[in-house]
This record gives sequence, structure tokens and C-alpha cells, in this order.
Amino acid sequence: MRTCVVIGAGCAGLTAADALAEAGVEVTVLEARDRVGGRVWSDRTAGGALIERGAEFITAGYDATDAMVERLGLEYRGMGIRYPDRELRPDPGIDRAEALAAAHAVEVAAAAAGPDAMALDILATVEDEAIRELLASRSQSASSVALEDLPAERLRTVGHLLDDGETRRVGGGNDGIALCLAERLGSAVRLEDPVSRIEHGPDGVRVHAASGVYAADACIVAVPLAVTQDIIFDPPLPPERCAAMDRIPIGQAAKLVVPAAATVPPAAIMSTADRFWAYTSPCDEVGGAVVGSWIGGAPVLDQLEVDAGPATWIERIRGYWGELPELDEAAAETTLWRRDHPWTKGSYSAVTGIPDDRDRHPIGDQLGRVSFAGEHTAPRDWTATIEGAIRSGQRAADEIITTLGGAT
Ligand SMILES: Cc1cc2nc3c(=O)[nH]c(=O)nc-3n(C[C@H](O)[C@H](O)[C@H](O)COP(=O)(O)OP(=O)(O)OC[C@H]3O[C@@H](n4cnc5c(N)ncnc54)[C@H](O)[C@@H]3O)c2cc1C
Repeated sequence: MRTCVVIGAGCAGLTAADALAEAGVEVTVLEARDRVGGRVWSDRTAGGALIERGAEFITAGYDATDAMVERLGLEYRGMGIRYPDRELRPDPGIDRAEALAAAHAVEVAAAAAGPDAMALDILATVEDEAIRELLASRSQSASSVALEDLPAERLRTVGHLLDDGETRRVGGGNDGIALCLAERLGSAVRLEDPVSRIEHGPDGVRVHAASGVYAADACIVAVPLAVTQDIIFDPPLPPERCAAMDRIPIGQAAKLVVPAAATVPPAAIMSTADRFWAYTSPCDEVGGAVVGSWIGGAPVLDQLEVDAGPATWIERIRGYWGELPELDEAAAETTLWRRDHPWTKGSYSAVTGIPDDRDRHPIGDQLGRVSFAGEHTAPRDWTATIEGAIRSGQRAADEIITTLGGAT
């Protein structure tokens, strides 16, 4: 029987493993953590609220995710808020049509900019200060990369951040996707089994994990970009590919959940000055009684002193969302996605430079019997999302199935 090892049990790896198993390939999934889902991590607070410590918002155009959710018998719940649509505090009085027109002009300029142009260069051309601050704030927050380090190309779709779009979560937790896929794969999924080395050649692969060495016909590497660079490849990855991986910025982010003394109607509030936002949603399964908040970008993590705890962050939320009921700071939960996390090394990638005739950056190209999956290998505009991870897993599985001679 044909065999394949999949490294990483996030949405990308599990999607790939499931597709391979469906095609009659014997699969082993090696996962470093003690849980599946990777950057999708649903959890409960002590008070029973359903929270998302990682990926939360499923917005418009998530076609592969929609199909997966349906196939697995899961259902979406509407969040009652729209990810792109946030009430600004204090209100700078921005005209929505003007903001959209400015965003469109930025998109056009970003598409025409050279590969070395930076986001700040393009944003500097926005005349209206409040709109410029809004676009800057949204771009840094969504990419989770400090504006100073953000390539102009990431502004090519900045309009999406202001546009109207439905926002959903998977009922019972976004990790339902990973849990269902893992359940289908059964004992093929091995937890707490990090991979450190991959030997690969024309006849097969040998994958070195904590539990031993796995010989297989092929493997799929579905770990985050920065973690891929920690795995030893024998023979090594081509130097130009390593250099290209090094050039891709990887963001840092933090999420906060803090219980409120009473339920709060769904709302999404953003401070462009502080460059972060907060929200409530009945998806918490306690009627909107927890306030969620997101910080994207190292400068804001530092400014809100998240390493010292949530106090400063909660104080700022209280400051601009005065009508909130009392917040229980002692019960707050913070999740940090910093570079020092061994299995992610940050939040997600800000991939740029995907050639027009390609559906992904060359860092995602197959190398003999090794294919690569993960959000950073997704088609342009879908990197850094659940949707991109799922699409990349499907693509990587197709590559391996073809390499191994097709489905049986
Ligand atoms: C805080 C945060 C918020 C986000 N919000 C959203 C959102 O609202 N909407 C959205 O669509 N996307 C969001 N994303 C992005 C989304 O979570 C990711 O794009 C997607 O989950 C990535 O899936 P993946 O399978 O590529 O990687 P991962 O989910 O990271 O899976 C990779 C797996 O590989 C494992 N691994 C790592 N190293 C090894 C090793 N050496 N050996 C074995 N296993 C290893 C990891 O433990 C992990 O389980 C968010 C991400 C973060 C961090």
C-alpha cells in the first residue's frame, strides 16, 4: 500500500491527510502538540464561555471551509457582528464612501508598486488623516505585522477590511473542523510527536520524530513557515528557497477574553489610535457575556504591556467602551502568539511576491516526494486564513496522489 507521513495536524495537515486516506493512501499524521487544530484553538473559560484562542472569524468567500463544514456535518453560527465593520472610538466622523474610495486608490497603488515598496509609502499618499489612520490601523491589525515591516503588496486587498461581509464561527468551536477530521483518521494521528528531520529521495522519505523514524513513499510538511525552517532536510532545501522563506514577514498577535458582569449585545469597537479592537458575540454560548479583543502587531503588544498581564489592555478597553458592564479582570484569559512559541513562532505569514501566473509562492512548491501545505503556501489573498490552510492541504494531497500514481 502507498504510504504518506503528514507533519502537522492543523487544518492544512488534517485536510491533506483526510484526502489522502480517501484516495487509498495509508497516512500517519505526526503532531508536536497534545491537541489537533494548531492555530485554530477553541476553549472554554471557567465560566463556560466558548472562546477562540486562535482563528475566530470566518468571513465571505470561504468556499473550501464552507464545503468542509458541510461535509463534516458541522454548522455555522452567525457572530452578530461583521468583521470588517467596526464602530470607531472616538468617532473621527469618517464618511464611509470616502473611506472606501481611499481604500480603492490604495489598492491600485499597492498593485502597481514595486516589490520593495512598503505599506507606509502607499499609506502616506492618503490625504485625509483620519482615513489614513484607519487604513494603517486596520492593515497592521489584520496582518499582525508592524506597519514599518509590512510590504506594500499586503495593501492590495485593503478594501476587504472595510467592506461589509458576514462573519461566522463553527458551532461548538472552530476546532470542530480539526477534531472531526482527526476522528475520521483515528489512530493515524499521533500527538506529542514533533518531527526534527526529513530525509528524502527518489524512492521515498524517512521522517524522524520523537517516537522514532517513519519510512514512507512521500510526506507533506504542514507546519508553520518559521517552523519549517527549524526542520532539518536531507538533502537541504535549495538556498534560494530558504532565502525566500526568510524574506516573508511573520506577525505577532495576542487575544484577550474577559468576562463581563452582564450580557452585552453584539458589537465591534475599534480604537485607531491604539490600533486594536474588541467585540462581543452570542457565539460565546453565554449570551455575549465575554468581551473578546485582538491585538495584531508587536508594537501594540508592547504598548499594551501584554507580557505583564491584561491590566493595561483591559483598562484601554474600558476607556473607550464606557458602556460595558463591569469586567472581571481576575478571570481574563490572554493568549499570546509570539515568535518564542516553538510550534508557530508567531501568528501567521504576510506572504508577498506570488507571481501572477501562479496560485502560490514558490516556497510552497513540491520537492520530489515532499509536498508543502499550510496557510503560507495558500493561493494569494488566502494566506493567513483557515480557508488558505484548507485549500493548501487539498492541493498538497493532490500533488502526492499524482506522484504516487493516482487514487485507487
Ligand atoms: C491568533 C490568531 C488569530 C487568527 N484569526 C483568524 C481568523 O479570524 N480567521 C482565519 O481565517 N484565520 C485566522 N488565523 C489564521 C489561521 O489560524 C491559520 O491560517 C490556520 O489555522 C493555519 O493552519 P495550518 O494548518 O497552516 O497551520 P497550524 O494550524 O499552525 O498547524 C500546523 C501544525 O503543525 C504542528 N507542528 C509544528 N511544528 C511541528 C513539528 N516539528 N512536528 C510536528 N508538528 C509540528 C503545530 O503544532 C500545528 O498543530 C488566525 C491565526 C492566529 C494565530
